[in-house]
Amino acid sequence: MIPPVFDYHAPKTVGEAITLLGTLGQDAKLLAGGHSLLPMMKLRFAQPAHLIDLNRIPELRGICEDGADVVIGAMTVENALITSPVLQAKVPLLSEAAKLIADPQVRNRGTIGGDIAHGDPANDHPALALACDASFVLEGPNGRRTVKADAFFHGTYVTELADDEILVSIRVPAFAPGTGWAYEKLKRKTGDWATAGAAVVLRLSGGSVSHARIALTNVGATALRAADAETALIGQPLSEATIAAAAAAAMAITDPAADLRGDVEYKTAMAGEMLKRAIRAAAARAK
Ligand SMILES: Cc1cc2nc3c(=O)[nH]c(=O)nc-3n(C[C@H](O)[C@H](O)[C@H](O)COP(=O)(O)OP(=O)(O)OC[C@H]3O[C@@H](n4cnc5c(N)ncnc54)[C@H](O)[C@@H]3O)c2cc1C
Repeated sequence: MIPPVFDYHAPKTVGEAITLLGTLGQDAKLLAGGHSLLPMMKLRFAQPAHLIDLNRIPELRGICEDGADVVIGAMTVENALITSPVLQAKVPLLSEAAKLIADPQVRNRGTIGGDIAHGDPANDHPALALACDASFVLEGPNGRRTVKADAFFHGTYVTELADDEILVSIRVPAFAPGTGWAYEKLKRKTGDWATAGAAVVLRLSGGSVSHARIALTNVGATALRAADAETALIGQPLSEATIAAAAAAAMAITDPAADLRGDVEYKTAMAGEMLKRAIRAAAARAK
């Protein structure tokens, strides 16, 4: 399939890209790895007259530490997340979970910024960002603003990004010593999106859960922060009963769409099951 005709622009700086966005207006789309945008163009779900390619802007790539945060450039590809020593040491959940995204070809081009900005509830990074308490740095004609992941995802393909803004970087607090983490993703085959997924970050203190952040993939219009599931865990000793209570609280907030991956009941049950597995795996890593 061939996408519709478009004009191609290749800015060298974020400033140039923002100027192009302002000039070309709603006829323009930003191009990152192209692994979500180009399929949509080929299917005529998107028909931008202009593509603004972010691939020639070096400042948008890379992973570094900034104080207590790890900062990931929006154009950093999945494969770089997997191999980053900084991420492996400071936020290993993102390195490990990136291995579950798509396949090696997609991971060599697809970017963390594109995965988040696309606003697809089936993508894995939105729930991972929620569980990690990440923030997103957005830049537009009036400068930069930082938005918490909790406030970014408004609906399917709808985010806090304005038409003239670029997602520049993702800031993730480094895990405190002793943090346990896990991402459990049920998929039909290698390379598939999640039927349901659960991301968990937790800490234990004196045998009880002292910190928990939980988020779910592909069981609602956006990735879902499961706050009631967190409440069910915090202050409690980890037992099968508390894990079951957290899973029940998480299943109560799901609203999945039936499709070829399963009906509503199956996806809801799988969200609960993925969360149970993720809590157990995170607890096994917590020290
Ligand atoms: C076969 C296949 C399997 C896949 N499986 C998975 C999976 O299991 N899990 C998963 O999470 N994803 C999966 N994906 C999606 C893949 O990860 C995409 O790469 C990702 O969704 C989009 O990233 P991209 O860099 O390709 O962005 P693009 O496709 O280039 O862009 C996507 C959207 O985001 C916008 N955008 C991109 N970058 C920015 C930015 N910096 N600022 C503002 N807007 C921006 C674009 O304008 C566009 O609207 C799969 C894709 C394929 C083709």
